[in-house]
Amino acid sequence: MTHIITGLCMRSGGCAEICPVGCIVPGYPIEQWPYFYIDPAACIDCGACVPICPYNAIWPEEDVPDVLHSDIQPNYTYFEQGPGYSARQKFPRWE
Ligand code: SF4
Ligand code: SF4
Repeated sequence: MTHIITGLCMRSGGCAEICPVGCIVPGYPIEQWPYFYIDPAACIDCGACVPICPYNAIWPEEDVPDVLHSDIQPNYTYFEQGPGYSARQKFPRWE
């Protein structure tokens, strides 16, 4: 399993600062990837990011509300097919 960032994300950045394995990466370019995304292959499901988010945007994948289900796949796609890993190198921590 993994945690998922949904479309409620407003790019405040707190989650990326607190993640112990650095697997939360800002979407880049913003026009195409408007939120922050979690690398599902690296997330250790520690849950530390959930209470940090002021918009309640982060959920364990199995608990994502139905209305936000379409936001799950972009977290995978951003890393598996999009610029996620190169963006992770470019933004190793959100600043
Ligand atoms: S803390 Fe919430 S709003 Fe801020 S970047 Fe993370 S998911 Fe987005
Ligand atoms: S659950 Fe833990 S490891 Fe996964 S993204 Fe959140 S802070 Fe990072």
